Amino acid sequence: MSDAAPNLIASGLSGVLQALPTQKALLARRIVGAGRTPTPPEFDRRGMRLSANEEAVLQQWLDAGLVTKVVQESRSKDGTVKLLIALQDGKKVETVAMTVGACCVSSQVGCAVGCRFCASGLFGVERHLTPDEIVEQVVHARRVMPIDRIVYMGMGEPSHNLDNVMTAVARIRDEVLISPRRQTFSTVGGVKPLERMRTFAARPCLALSLHSANEATRRELLPRAHKDPIPDIVAAADAYARDVGTPLQVEWTLLAGINDSDQDIDELCTVLQGVRGFVNFIVYNTVEGLPFTAPSRERIIAMARAVKARGILATVRDSSGPDAQAACGQLRLRDRVVGA
Ligand code: SF4
Repeated sequence: MSDAAPNLIASGLSGVLQALPTQKALLARRIVGAGRTPTPPEFDRRGMRLSANEEAVLQQWLDAGLVTKVVQESRSKDGTVKLLIALQDGKKVETVAMTVGACCVSSQVGCAVGCRFCASGLFGVERHLTPDEIVEQVVHARRVMPIDRIVYMGMGEPSHNLDNVMTAVARIRDEVLISPRRQTFSTVGGVKPLERMRTFAARPCLALSLHSANEATRRELLPRAHKDPIPDIVAAADAYARDVGTPLQVEWTLLAGINDSDQDIDELCTVLQGVRGFVNFIVYNTVEGLPFTAPSRERIIAMARAVKARGILATVRDSSGPDAQAACGQLRLRDRVVGA
């Protein structure tokens, strides 16, 4: 075993496997396959003790290879952990590890789309994340809890950083052993990027952030999203999802008085006719300083029922965890304000 610490990301899982004897390498692979990082305590828990030398090399491998580091950890009562991660240039992004085994990763520092209800878009985009910086978010999250699912729903619009995100999708498959089918690319769309996504070999599942099926309302809510007509975006997203062989997830952040009327439901169901997918209603987390709130619980249930009555599957995701600044971009926003 070499004294030099290999770069975790450059060597990936093979770095661990080469550094260990066969039985321990196999166990390392099983640990990674179970969604955990092969730390010395993980070996202990499974009844296989590493020698001091193996432990030192493994620890060196775990510590030295990363180009990013966790600078703040915020844990909510339901177990969700939000990580503020410092990049090499000192900029910061957020990653969320959820107890359901999912990790929500960021793809950019800031975001250019500027959704009116989102803290991440308040200051525009500063730069794209590199594939290393995307993959390492999963590595950090796995040190907090088991992770076997990735959602590209953190800070940034992944289609604006398409090549790096799609590279990360393939590397997370190869190095972290999470298949693209367990990775979800969440985008506001655009026909061209959706068509280009179909050309990649490793293709994740797709979530389309629609939020409104009314052209004027969507442009107001997502001011710098692609200006393609909504039916064209939905058709391109549906075509991609059919190619990949997974249903299209249509995301709809619920905003009281903005997109929760009967007419909004009617427009949504109309644009989704013939689409192979489902609607995921997301209960809005209030962001300090922004004038939006979620509809009442009764209204949310009524909306989901109305969509189902039109033959479209609907789910409700309530990620409200205000004790962990659960809304997108809030931890970074707070750090920015406090650290300014
Ligand atoms: S919701 Fe997503 S696309 Fe919109 S500003 Fe926030 S990070 Fe960007």
